[in-house]
Amino acid sequence: MPKKYHISTKVTPLQVDNVFKFKIVRGENCINCGKCTKVCIYEAHKRGKRDPRKMADPNTVVCRNCFRCIQECPRGALEKSIDMDFRNIGGSFWKPDMFITLFKQSEDGKVPVTGAGYRGPFTGEGFDGMWTDMSEIVRPTRDGIHGREYISTAVELGRKLNHLKFDENGKLISKINKTVDIPIPIIFDIPAEDISDNVLTALLKAASELSTFIIMPADDIGKDVEKYSGNIIPLIDLDNADEHKALLKNANLISFEYNAESKENFQKTRNRISKLSDAVAIVRVKAGNDIEDIVSALAHDGAEVIHVVTDYCGRGEDGRLVKDIIRSVHLRLVDEKIRDEVTLIFSGGISMAEHVPKAMLCGADLTAIDLPIMIGFGARLFEGPEKLLVFPVGLDKVPARTLTQRVINLMGAWHSQILEMMGAMGIREARRLRGETGRAIFFEDIDNDTFGRLFKKKEAVNL
Ligand code: SF4
Ligand code: SF4
Repeated sequence: MPKKYHISTKVTPLQVDNVFKFKIVRGENCINCGKCTKVCIYEAHKRGKRDPRKMADPNTVVCRNCFRCIQECPRGALEKSIDMDFRNIGGSFWKPDMFITLFKQSEDGKVPVTGAGYRGPFTGEGFDGMWTDMSEIVRPTRDGIHGREYISTAVELGRKLNHLKFDENGKLISKINKTVDIPIPIIFDIPAEDISDNVLTALLKAASELSTFIIMPADDIGKDVEKYSGNIIPLIDLDNADEHKALLKNANLISFEYNAESKENFQKTRNRISKLSDAVAIVRVKAGNDIEDIVSALAHDGAEVIHVVTDYCGRGEDGRLVKDIIRSVHLRLVDEKIRDEVTLIFSGGISMAEHVPKAMLCGADLTAIDLPIMIGFGARLFEGPEKLLVFPVGLDKVPARTLTQRVINLMGAWHSQILEMMGAMGIREARRLRGETGRAIFFEDIDNDTFGRLFKKKEAVNL
């Protein structure tokens, strides 16, 4: 049994202007009695450093929203309100609460506990309309997710054989294809274009320390980052791939965009890449209304790994959500009896830890993420009127080590949540999660089962 994969998290605060849900304001009527310093166990209230007779401004970052200080203040001097920046951030997909959760997970690497129960809607779009069956919760997790029970989150990238062939002497004659193992079903997608050097270094270091990979355009991989080449997936432009011969020779995985040439003759493209590298190749395809046909054709033509890309809100070009795209693509390959031979990566709209196992239950082998890491660095994302990612002032001066640890913390928190969900579902291997819809409940299915026939009947009567 392989060694347990462990992510070492460490509390790593980041002093940037990040978003808070609530703003606590101390009014003029404060008498500096200090009672709030005693009632707040999170130390949001402290006396001033220069003049301890006066209270310092409340530290909203650590506030856990328990309202105790508000209730206990003898003068009613504390006021709590929703911050205006919080109201304006994100949009209909990237909800403001996600920013707080991701930033916090990057800070302490812990599974988020809100303490006030879930007060959101019963269902929603995409992954919010999907639940997991946790009925096994008392069995594999009785010893805790980090206890003696072994739960593996490792996944394998590469082309698998449908069956093995042996000669008359029982000798294996099938050629076993190269595969690459990753201990967590998450890789990092292409970083935003305008990141500073320290942010890029942090992403590379974190990918290396977590034993995962980061996809980077080959043209952007300079000598300074070559030491991380073992964890970089160069994204090559087929027209100038020859310029990156040295880089491609050492890569374990390489990625290239699906284009007219690969559509016309995939094997010709693949052979061209094989001459430059023996790496496992990932073909990157944008999700459109014909994505099922494209993935099917690629799988039949021998593609090893297919990376289906949706937009940053998890929508394909035809408006479908990533959850539905994954299910549809997966089931098409299952119908064609070729699903086990290819690896499918999905990206776009994977914004919270639970989206990873949910995507896998729908049929993904693994996921690729980018924006959650940036939000963990304090970046603000605005969906409307068009996508805008704003990095906090001073981020470029933060030591790369601090940012590296925040990425590791975020992945530590996500890994713990994946383990929790797998344990509760009674699944001990991430590979077994793929397409295991017996452990998932889809709102649209139960809605249809419960009310579908009823309303169809009504419509029939009206006719
Ligand atoms: S408890 Fe109220 S009055 Fe006392 S220091 Fe805190 S805010 Fe001021
Ligand atoms: S609301 Fe609770 S956690 Fe927040 S500052 Fe007041 S006492 Fe502390």
